[in-house]
Amino acid sequence: MKHRFRDDIYFRSIIDTVPDAMIVIDETGHILAFSHAAEKMFGYDSDELIGENVNTLMPSPDRERHDGYLERYRETGEARIIGKGRVTSARRRDGVTFPIDLSIGEAEVEGARVFTGFIRDLTERAETTKRLHVLQAELAHVARISQMGTLATSIAHELNQPLAAITNYVDAASSLLAQRGDSEASNVRQALALCADEVIRAGDIIRHLREFIRHGETERVHARIGHVIEEAIALALADGAGTGVALSVRFDEAAEDVLADRVQIQQVLVNLLRNATEAMADTRSKTIEIMTRATDDQMTEVVVADSGPGLEPRIARRLFQPFETTKPSGMGLGLSICHTIVDAHGGRIWAEPSPIGGTAFHFTLPRFETQEGS
Ligand code: ADP
Repeated sequence: MKHRFRDDIYFRSIIDTVPDAMIVIDETGHILAFSHAAEKMFGYDSDELIGENVNTLMPSPDRERHDGYLERYRETGEARIIGKGRVTSARRRDGVTFPIDLSIGEAEVEGARVFTGFIRDLTERAETTKRLHVLQAELAHVARISQMGTLATSIAHELNQPLAAITNYVDAASSLLAQRGDSEASNVRQALALCADEVIRAGDIIRHLREFIRHGETERVHARIGHVIEEAIALALADGAGTGVALSVRFDEAAEDVLADRVQIQQVLVNLLRNATEAMADTRSKTIEIMTRATDDQMTEVVVADSGPGLEPRIARRLFQPFETTKPSGMGLGLSICHTIVDAHGGRIWAEPSPIGGTAFHFTLPRFETQEGS
């Protein structure tokens, strides 16, 4: 049978061209055919492996147990893996173990039973998932910092007025008391002076907090915007948020190199993408178009356009202000954080009606060459 398998031209053409790694074994586990893709995946020539036990390609403990699995199947017909497929590990020629997706089928050739395994290397996928987790953790961190920053800024803003009013009242009370010369009045004046000091202290605390948050955690370096966008798409849509959304991207090569804090810009993109998918929840045609463009003033412009219902008029004017939201459970912080981040990069963010029906958010970032040249 070994002979037949290797010489059948039709079979040979399949084994040479099938994109997945494919291995055919007989019922005792000996390799009858080994596809071209499998040669590349495992680092063996098929000639070296034909006739060998397939357990060579397995790490322990499967390596020692595989003969037993086949024997049990021959005796009991009880299939544990055949026809089902599963995620397991395989072993390359250099001894490295890697994750695979394995599906096995069974056939009868000239009265003998053969098993065909299709193998997909999951290394890349596992790495993508790992990277996605790292990115998610970074993003969550920046989101927390940004939210704290936005909260501190708005608290500072809100508290400034009452603090200024307190200062005025304290001044006025001191002036009124100044006209009275008794010792009680002098005690009260002292207390009022202390009160004024405390107001100044409260103002300082708020200012320091704002400074601290504004200066922390930015690292602007050369980044490829296409890559940053692709990762942001994976992050924003990873948990199924983008189901049913047709996404298209168009990158301008001339706009690729930017000077940016990658994680912060991903935060902006994730916010915009999430808003876009949420806005299209009840829209029949769900489309997001992402585009980059090199502008005349040496900036890179990024556009995230959706086919949603557009902005509600009451929100449109105060779009980038904190706590403006139309969502029942929204915080209204997303766009104000985007604004703060883009601003800190020396860019601009704005919204326009989108050519595909909904809203298009645009933002700009400095290009890398700009900084280099200047
Ligand atoms: P949140 O998402 O918590 O409401 P944001 O600051 O991200 O906070 O958004 C503020 C508001 O802007 C949203 O509540 C929504 O009304 C509006 N908005 C943002 N993006 C879009 C969009 N792509 N389409 C329509 N409305 C949007």
